[in-house]
Order: sequence, then structure tokens, then C-alpha cells
Amino acid sequence: MIAAELVATGTELLIGRTVNTHAQRLGRALSPLGIALERETTLRDDRPAIAAAVRAALTRSQVVFVTGGLGPTCDDLTREALADALGRKIVRDTAALSRIRARCVRLGQSMTDSRARQADILEGAAALSNSVGAAPGQRIELGGGRVLLVLPGPPREFEAILAEHVLPWLRGHLHAPVAPERILMVCGLGESDVIERFAAAGFDPAPLDLAYCAGPGQLEVRLTGKPGEESVVTSAAARALAVLGDHVYAESREDLVAAVGRRLEARGATVATAESCTGGLVAQVLTSVPGSSAWYRGSIVAYANDAKTSLLGVPADLIAAHGAVSEPVARAMAEGARRALGTDFALATTGVAGPDGATPEKPVGLVWWALADAKGTVARTRRFPGDRDLIRRWTAQYALDLLRRRLDGTA
Ligand code: ATP
Repeated sequence: MIAAELVATGTELLIGRTVNTHAQRLGRALSPLGIALERETTLRDDRPAIAAAVRAALTRSQVVFVTGGLGPTCDDLTREALADALGRKIVRDTAALSRIRARCVRLGQSMTDSRARQADILEGAAALSNSVGAAPGQRIELGGGRVLLVLPGPPREFEAILAEHVLPWLRGHLHAPVAPERILMVCGLGESDVIERFAAAGFDPAPLDLAYCAGPGQLEVRLTGKPGEESVVTSAAARALAVLGDHVYAESREDLVAAVGRRLEARGATVATAESCTGGLVAQVLTSVPGSSAWYRGSIVAYANDAKTSLLGVPADLIAAHGAVSEPVARAMAEGARRALGTDFALATTGVAGPDGATPEKPVGLVWWALADAKGTVARTRRFPGDRDLIRRWTAQYALDLLRRRLDGTA
């Protein structure tokens, strides 16, 4: 793998005003090219500190990204810092200047000195035109195959120059052997459950690299080998899949909800939701998938007991006998939503999200969820850890996973 690093500049990144998204975006974009983002340094707008960080990065990494500080204001110091670091002059790029001039005319802005300054690049740099903003990016090829890539801070501009200029250039010029990788997306197991299952099955992925990335209700299990170890990684992934079984919902990086949508679409089936403790969260998650209108019909958020009765037809005496957080009520809610919205499947959630409302029999985190379809109704329960927000998110994911399992024929 070729080593890359990022020097992200901007005081706003260090005072909690802006989340640094460039590292995440770069890491994701570079790894398929065989380039590993190995380090990220975030700095305030300080010319000597930026110059020193860039110099140090160039001693370690073949590809160095610098972001931010290319704007027109006096705190935009990246150009000067790079001139200090490389011992090069700053020159005005005529093509960039005419683009900025045209942009000013288009936007009805006057062409000021500070705007013109955005056309300044390092001597010997290739200017990378900015299709959505003013300041161009820069590519500076240095001795020993090293390259410095300078991009604007605003994510839209960073993204446009990365996609239009930087990634195509890297693809064409740096030939790194790509490390083979397999991904298993898992629901219903945590990292330690996966480790225990692997150990119990006598499966040790070493010397492959085994990594996890956990989110509420879903876990990415990643196996990576060295270049050339394609078949080793493939057979280890097959073994891992056999051990984890129906907990695996996808064999490439995919959110659970997208995997559910993919299955519904393939089958031409529809789903509705009846939500109590999640208050519409399952609906929100489902509708976050583009194209969900093909398979999602709608939600009935029935929070109060009488709403469960009037909107979903849950018998009042059922609620009185078992309480709203109970298996019979979860089942009746799912059946009511399926009836009301005329879908193939319906999911229901009811639980104690807390912090209030717990009883000795029904503690905070106790949730029931159910799924109704033409074959009948199934219900599941669990006591989730965490605060209100987390309990609701866990519930939404587990409800979606019940639907996924039903679609896979394993629930
Ligand atoms: P501008 O012309 O807007 O001044 P610039 O290249 O000088 O662009 P900055 O001034 O450093 O960039 O940042 C502009 C905006 O871009 C910041 O307000 C911030 O919201 C966003 N930004 C900068 N760096 C990052 C980053 N690493 N991740 C996410 N957003 C960022």
C-alpha cells in the first residue's frame, strides 16, 4: 500500500464548530486504490505550524493532502505556508484567474484583490479547476514520486476536485497493489459475540487482518489480506460467513435498511409500520433509502393507548390485560398496520424507552417488536442498554432485521 496523510487546516475544526469530514471521505476513496490514509493532522490557521506539518508529512508519506485555507480572507494561509515548506514562490494562475473573473460576473460580484488572490498557486503546481467554487486545487509533484495535493475546505468544493481531478490522476499515476478485502455486514451480534463465535468454531483469521466497525444494530466485519492473498481472503470470508450464519445480512458494505429495501424491491413486496416507542424512527430510517416509495407504504405512530385502539384496532382489553409494552399488543399493532395500509408486511414496535415509565416487570430498555405477514405474526423482545435515543435506535434496527430475516426465510 502507498502511504498517504492529510493535513486539515482550519481553526473551526478545533473549536467544535465544524466536523472534519475530509479524513473520512479520503480514507474511503483512497483504500480501493491501494493507498492507505495513515495519519491525519488537524491544525488551526497558523502559517508556521502548517508549514512544519506539511514538511513532516512529506518525510513520511508519498501522498500528502492539505485542505482548507485557500479562500480570500486573511486567515487563509495555506498558500503561504506551502511556499515556506517547499521554498517555492507563489504565482498567479491565469486560467484560474479568468475562471474567477467569469464566476464574479455570473454571480454579480465585483472582482476584488482578495478574490483574485484565490488564483494564486505554488510555482510548478498544476491548478485543478474548481467546478463549484472559486479557489482551484493544486497538484505539486515532488522528487521521489511524492505528490502534494491541495484542496479547498468547503466539502462541496473538496469533493468536486477530488472526484474530477485527484482520484482520476491517482488512478492513472500511482500503481499500488490493492490489498484484497472481504466484508460481512452483521446484525444481532456485537464484536465480542463475533470473536466468541469464531473461537468456539476454531476459526482464527490470522495472519489476515480482522477489523470491526460497529454502529447501533449493525456491525461491519472486515477481513483484509496482503496483495496477492485473494484466495486466502476468499476462503476465510467463506468460513466466517458459515460461522456467523443468518446474522450476516450483506457481503459488501451496506446499511441494514438498504439491504431490507433491496430485498423488498426484488420481491415486489410492500411494508408498513406501526410505531409506539420509536415514534416514527423506523419510518424515518426506511424512507432514508432512495426509491423507498416502491416498497414503503406508511406509518401509524400510535403512542397513546387509545390511539393504538382507534388507529390500529388493538383491543382496549388486550392493553388493559397485558400493558402496552407486551407481546400481544406488539402483535396486534403489526396486524392492525398491515390491515390499515394493505401491505404484504407490517412491523410494530412498543417499549419502555425511558428514562421514566419503568416498572419492576418492565424496566427501561424492554422492547417488543412484531412482524405480520400472510403467513402469520412473529414477535421478539429484548432489553436494550443505553439511553432513550440509543434504545430507540436499537429497536428500529432489530425491527428491520426481523423483516430482513423473514424475507430471507430465517424468521
Ligand atoms: P473558503 O474559500 O470558503 O474560505 P477555504 O479553502 O479557505 O475555503 P476554509 O476557509 O478552511 O477553506 O474552510 C471553509 C469551510 O469549509 C469551513 O467553514 C468549514 O465549514 C469547511 N471545512 C473546512 N475544512 C473542513 C474539513 N476538514 N471537514 C469538513 N468541513 C471543512
